[in-house]
Amino acid sequence: MTLAYHRPRDAAEALALLAATEGRGSDRPSAMRLPLAGGTQLNSAESRNLDFEAVDLSALLPRGVSRSEGGIAIGAGTSFQELVDSPETPSALRAAAAGMRDRNIRNRATIGGNLGADKACSSLVPVLLAFDADLLLLDGRRLSLEKWLDLPPGPAGRNVITSLNIAIDNKIRVAYARWSRVAADLAILGAAAAYRIEGDRIRGLRLVLGGVSAHARRHGTLEAAFEGSPLPPRADIEALVSGLDGHGRPFVSPRDDARGSAVFKRSRISSLVAEVLLGALAADGTQSTEARR
Ligand SMILES: Cc1cc2nc3c(=O)[nH]c(=O)nc-3n(C[C@H](O)[C@H](O)[C@H](O)COP(=O)(O)OP(=O)(O)OC[C@H]3O[C@@H](n4cnc5c(N)ncnc54)[C@H](O)[C@@H]3O)c2cc1C
Repeated sequence: MTLAYHRPRDAAEALALLAATEGRGSDRPSAMRLPLAGGTQLNSAESRNLDFEAVDLSALLPRGVSRSEGGIAIGAGTSFQELVDSPETPSALRAAAAGMRDRNIRNRATIGGNLGADKACSSLVPVLLAFDADLLLLDGRRLSLEKWLDLPPGPAGRNVITSLNIAIDNKIRVAYARWSRVAADLAILGAAAAYRIEGDRIRGLRLVLGGVSAHARRHGTLEAAFEGSPLPPRADIEALVSGLDGHGRPFVSPRDDARGSAVFKRSRISSLVAEVLLGALAADGTQSTEARR
């Protein structure tokens, strides 16, 4: 429940409001202050038991996708629909944003809010981790998304994302895929892969799985299993992913949750991994945009 609403006029006021969260813990433990962007998560039924004060950043966070020599910059306030519509959005990121099928939600939900929500079935965390996106925070820090996801929430930890940057490297191939019960539903499983091909071998693989654990993250053991090898045919990829690692443990041990059982997820994840590994091979370079094809 929203206990209070703040609309800061500038970054300094926003940082001061959010910083005041710390130290209020003992007398009002539930009244934390949280950044509010599109509100599709914070104002949803899922947050009904969360007591918070909203710090509305919608007027402060930059919006839009722009391309420079250094890469592709995306304002944290950019909505999913703006990601889908921009000709500068890399194709794999556009596919991930379009995977949120409800257009009303796509018009409100922001890229910053999606990373802040950090859900197991997140649409954008897998593909942005595969891209190895860098973040600029409201307090001036710059760090990779991967490091940011390791930080605790709060002003001294994750703070607020202002913008993201994806480096341009046309040798990197990226693909994203999801699995949901019906097209309009949240993903039960998601996956993204990024790598380059040297000779006929996979190098620098970043493989991210969503829906198998509490948060979508890279899967180091699977990355190591494919790194430095030629890309196997689909049946071999699926057999490897559904088999055991070098220590006799399953490569992937999904969790049961409201969206799907562990058994079901295990049966689907191997084909999703094959889909992104093979799909990336067919992609025409990481940073390609539909306008430039
Ligand atoms: C009907 C429905 C369908 C949905 N479908 C999907 C889906 O397909 N895929 C999916 O991933 N999610 C889905 N969601 C969940 C939600 O819409 C998304 O996670 C969305 O991207 C959240 O963005 P927002 O701007 O609305 O965030 P908000 O609700 O405003 O905030 C979400 C969280 O992020 C934090 N936050 C907001 N902005 C920032 C920032 N700039 N920096 C750091 N933290 C920040 C907030 O404090 C909060 O903790 C769905 C929700 C609904 C209600």
